[in-house]
Amino acid sequence: MKFKELNLSQEILLAVDELGFDEMTEIQEKSIPLLLEGRDVVGRSNTGTGKTAAFGIPAVESITDADKKTVAVLVMCPTRELAMQADEEIKKFAKYKHIVKTCAVYGGASMENQIRQLKRGVNIVIGTPGRIMDHIRRKTLKLDFLRTVILDEADEMLNMGFREDIEEILSYIPAERQTVLFSATMPPEIMAITEKYQENPEHIKIKSAGKTVELINQFYFEVPMGRKTDALKLLLAAYNPASSMIFCNTKKMVDELTEELVKSGFRAAGLHGDMKQIQRTQVMNSFKSGSTPILVATDVAARGIDVSGIDAVFNYDIPQDNEYYIHRIGRTGRAGRTGTAYTLISGRKQFYSLRDISRYINAEIKEMPLPDKNDVISAKKENIINEITNFGHVSDRRAYEILDRLAALGIDYREAAARIIAERLKSETDNLPDYAARPVRKGNRKGEKTVRVDINIGRSHRIAPNFILGALADATGMAGKDFGKIDIYDEHTTVEVPESDYDYIIESTNPMKINGRQVEVKLYKGGKTERISERRNREISGKEKHKTPFGKSRKREVYTDYIPDRKKRSKKRH
Ligand code: ADP
Ligand code: MG
Repeated sequence: MKFKELNLSQEILLAVDELGFDEMTEIQEKSIPLLLEGRDVVGRSNTGTGKTAAFGIPAVESITDADKKTVAVLVMCPTRELAMQADEEIKKFAKYKHIVKTCAVYGGASMENQIRQLKRGVNIVIGTPGRIMDHIRRKTLKLDFLRTVILDEADEMLNMGFREDIEEILSYIPAERQTVLFSATMPPEIMAITEKYQENPEHIKIKSAGKTVELINQFYFEVPMGRKTDALKLLLAAYNPASSMIFCNTKKMVDELTEELVKSGFRAAGLHGDMKQIQRTQVMNSFKSGSTPILVATDVAARGIDVSGIDAVFNYDIPQDNEYYIHRIGRTGRAGRTGTAYTLISGRKQFYSLRDISRYINAEIKEMPLPDKNDVISAKKENIINEITNFGHVSDRRAYEILDRLAALGIDYREAAARIIAERLKSETDNLPDYAARPVRKGNRKGEKTVRVDINIGRSHRIAPNFILGALADATGMAGKDFGKIDIYDEHTTVEVPESDYDYIIESTNPMKINGRQVEVKLYKGGKTERISERRNREISGKEKHKTPFGKSRKREVYTDYIPDRKKRSKKRH
């Protein structure tokens, strides 16, 4: 359905048309007519589905001359960025409807400025709950004539601890009002708010997957514990995306990763909630303009910031919520463009989390081999060749002048060109981590050639096969079934491993700890051995019941299919 088919005023239709909006999105089509009628609505849909227009257009439409001096609509958003963005977009809808005056109020910006604007008379206020409360307490914001209150990204506001503020704000609003709530997820706390504060609301739910993820190519990489940063650097160097967002679960990780990337010569900037407003604006501007092509962010900081045309999204940390995954990757592939999302996982636990996500979104996430340093170097060489080939003839005489002067100094053209190319290659590849990538295998590994590795920990250290397998699986991200026979001796242990994985295993297990002990893993070269008794072996594998991540309890086959369960193991240690 088109916007034109709605019963909207000419001023708004013109503004919407100028924005290039023609067809409504699903959430808009379902909610705008109800909102125009004055109904209470609970709308559930993902980031990027056009919720701002869904509530913004009816809000602008509802303003009349009678609202000249009073606030009629209040929009609450979780972050300053979101409030600013919603304000900007609503202003665009109101471009030709001059009686509409909006004002954004959020922390980290001058109070005086906001007070001055509020005093001038505004009818739509958009803000964060904290700052809205501030203004209410100072009596610089009066809600006595409010008709509509909108909670945008309600789940996120609750996550951020705004519940009390929100409830208090709602208590200042006349009971006779329209209450609108938009949220990406519907946890019980949201349902509670809905029941308490809305009247006979219409529930609108836009199906999760589909729209946002279907145009996105999704891949994952298995990386040993502690090697995600290296892996990420290789990926960035190999794919060289024009713009990318990297998601971390914590502010600390955002800071650390950003610093690490910048140190290695990547143009990256971090974005999280602890940063000052001015810093955040700077970061967003330099990302939007392309001068900083890599943005490292937390979910909360990134929520709702409207940046389009991102080439790649990297999940450095697995998102803590399935919906977050959709939000994150929804940054790429917007507006009909294809995008790519990459997830880095370490260890079995993350593997299973990702599998859950894949089921939830009902889309395939394919495994990809990590490029190794040599792949990246080859790609960079090709780049240089292509660039020079495509450059065309140089008519700048200064360039030839320099070459002539160099020749006079005994540096011929070939040598001069080589020096420049070498410098360029050095800057692009010197900081790349050395990394033995694990080849992606498909299907059954039976019949593969194996070698044995030797680990300097054994029976005298009270070690059991499951400790060994757990540590190996954690360190390498490989499955328990990828490892073969384990023999535990008094002072050491040998493990059969696929020959094709040998380099990778050595690389990712040094260092490695088992049972709190630093161990060394190397090629087993035979030697005098005393085998532990078969009986002891059977005892270990037969007795223990192991709870799998799928909830089913099954007997563990210690030697063939071990899935680490960190909590259980660490408990056992004490
Ligand atoms: P959400 O709040 O659901 O995350 P936004 O309101 O930020 O989504 O909208 C995402 C982007 O889509 C914005 O750039 C917005 O201008 C654009 N958009 C919204 N509705 C339409 C539409 N009907 N047609 C084209 N673009 C739209
Ligand atoms: Mg939004």
